Amino acid sequence: MLVDGFGRTIDYMRISVTERCNFRCAYCMPNTPMNLGDENEDVPLESVLNFIKVAIIQGVKKIRITGGEPLLRSKIVPFIAQICDFAPQIDIALTTNAFLLAPLAKPLKDAGLKRINISLDSLQKDRILCISKRDGLEKILNGIEVAHQVGLKIKLNMVPLKGINTDEILSILEYGMKRGIMVRFIEYMENSHAKEGIMGLKLAEILANIQTKYPTRLFEKEVIGPATLFKIPQQEIKANLGVELNRDYIFGIIAPHNDDFCKTCNRVRLSSEGKLIPCLYHNNAIDIKEAMLRGDTEEILSRLKLCIENKPEKNDWDTNAISQRAFYQTGG
Ligand code: SAM
Ligand code: SF4
Repeated sequence: MLVDGFGRTIDYMRISVTERCNFRCAYCMPNTPMNLGDENEDVPLESVLNFIKVAIIQGVKKIRITGGEPLLRSKIVPFIAQICDFAPQIDIALTTNAFLLAPLAKPLKDAGLKRINISLDSLQKDRILCISKRDGLEKILNGIEVAHQVGLKIKLNMVPLKGINTDEILSILEYGMKRGIMVRFIEYMENSHAKEGIMGLKLAEILANIQTKYPTRLFEKEVIGPATLFKIPQQEIKANLGVELNRDYIFGIIAPHNDDFCKTCNRVRLSSEGKLIPCLYHNNAIDIKEAMLRGDTEEILSRLKLCIENKPEKNDWDTNAISQRAFYQTGG
């Protein structure tokens, strides 16, 4: 078992398998030239698997594969299958923009993937093009539908941005409601790679927007995790949307700096550059790339333990500072 210096058990790894992406979202990597890069520059998936196996042997129970865009990795399906073969009980999930998802949804499910988080910032073609610089709406929606059909458990992530897509908070929520899919609104987190001048909505503003149509009740704060969950009674949905659900609808808002979730933090990140990051809002990181490439499991374990020993008690988030960390490298 991996336990840090403050008694927290670390059993969740977020793994960024590439920093390359087929989108250029305004809040993430708008200034990178639009090309798909070279897969040969990514850490080989066999090497990432070396790390994952060590982590699982040490008691890691939950893995999220992210990026950049993880579906750009040509061997992503066998990679997921290898993880699931190694640890059939593993809780494995993936985060994607869904542009490439439709043909991969069933193979991913068959490989053992259970859950998928999909970014959906607009239901309007031109808006998706404006936010992500890619004319991708049709493919995204098709990807969501196919993933839903094949039985992947889906969550939708939206980042509301002032003057860009905040008028779609309700329509995206209702898109999720109709399908019984949870929507989570993520507060925009300022970072030096994002488009200059963009501004996000805060939790209270997102909630107020939803409450113009639906009464909401606080449901719960995720015990381990950053989202605050809210509930809309099913009879309100029937009255407003004409849709009959067999239970109340739950949605989430992720406001990472409102709540002190450091106390229960159970996670470590592996960045696309092969660095172990014990805390997203702290500057320390440990390079593990060479050890992964060599398949040196002793060295991987020793670096993983070092990372966890040095996991800070709290983030050192300064609300006036802009994070230098790139979401496309850390995986969000
Ligand atoms: N490409 C995939 C996608 O977009 O879903 C996976 C990687 S992306 C970095 C992971 C998550 O981070 C997405 O849900 C995205 O919306 C979120 N994200 C990226 N930059 C963000 C920012 N500045 N503030 C808040 N969320 C951000
Ligand atoms: Fe790509 Fe995801 Fe970043 Fe958008 S948020 S640019 S889809 S990595």
